[in-house]
Amino acid sequence: MLMKKGSKETLAKAEDYLSEIQSLAVKPFTIMEVCGTHTVAIAKNALRELLPPSVRLISGPGCPVCVTDSSDIDRYLFLAAQPNVITTTFGDMIRVPGSEKNLQALRAEGADIRVVYSTQDALEIARKNPEKDVVFLGVGFETTAPTVAVSLEIAKREGLNNYSVLSMHKIVPPVLRLLAEDPELDVDAFLDPGHVCAIIGIKPIEFMAKEFGKPGVVTGFEALDILEGIVMLLRQRAEGRSDIEIQYHRVAKANGNPHAKMAVERVFRPVDASWRGMGLIPASGLGIREEFSAWDAERKFSLPAFHSPDIPGCQCGEVLKGRINPRKCPLYGKRCTPLKPIGPCMVSSEGSCAAYYRYSQRSGD
Ligand code: SF4
Repeated sequence: MLMKKGSKETLAKAEDYLSEIQSLAVKPFTIMEVCGTHTVAIAKNALRELLPPSVRLISGPGCPVCVTDSSDIDRYLFLAAQPNVITTTFGDMIRVPGSEKNLQALRAEGADIRVVYSTQDALEIARKNPEKDVVFLGVGFETTAPTVAVSLEIAKREGLNNYSVLSMHKIVPPVLRLLAEDPELDVDAFLDPGHVCAIIGIKPIEFMAKEFGKPGVVTGFEALDILEGIVMLLRQRAEGRSDIEIQYHRVAKANGNPHAKMAVERVFRPVDASWRGMGLIPASGLGIREEFSAWDAERKFSLPAFHSPDIPGCQCGEVLKGRINPRKCPLYGKRCTPLKPIGPCMVSSEGSCAAYYRYSQRSGD
């Protein structure tokens, strides 16, 4: 893709990066790309195929839909089936399977489930349907949380009491710590998530370099960004350094986005959260603060706790922890394809299994 579509300058730059990678990759180096958007960009541009065999890229837990635990999925399906509720959600969630069905099937049975493109759309639906309870499914990382926080502030200011959010938001630093502490995970360095770090800055992830000696580069999402990020990581190894650096300077700043951080801080508080395949991670989720409890769907609807098992045979948990390449899942490409997905990693546009299936040609690491 890169070679076919790039301009002359892009191709020249890519060749420079690839030649530097070649000369620096004197021994094996495994890099985890944390973000699902990186996974898609790497597969789409066939970057794995361009790298020398000593540089291995593995995918991590950076797809928010994929890491949403089966119990949370069953919980929001239960809520969406309630009478008088309009469920609003981003499109990626529609086909994610719960224990028995997904939102699409529930909608076919008559539930009012609407795909929205922003929380503003969800607020507007609430304004136009005062006799209904409009719930927004809050799934995402630090990138999504600020706009959801602002929607709750707007609802409170307007007295829009028929709007609420079911917050299943997750934050990235605690899962990075879990990965760094995993003795089975063989990763030398990280391509850190550009958009998450554009919000939180680099301070919350500096422990990866300082405590665990795992260098990271906050990287953008173009093919050249990713190649440059890899070069920066290899240069760190060559110089014996372990730092968190920024490649994605045009968007991510060292201090992040103070306005977005403050909006999240005003509305959310850290809570323990369950991640698919990784269990309960302390302080890795965002719950809604007491001041906004009237707009917290969890409290408003007194939702019961679900303890749902993982999908039988699906290896999403192992894929998300970087322990296996999606192709190592026995169902990959056979019973599980983007048209007939079994697990969320094959449903979501940012899921590793979907990205590998759609774009990658390589036979697997
Ligand atoms: Fe799950 Fe399908 Fe991926 Fe296997 S290929 S891990 S079943 S999503």
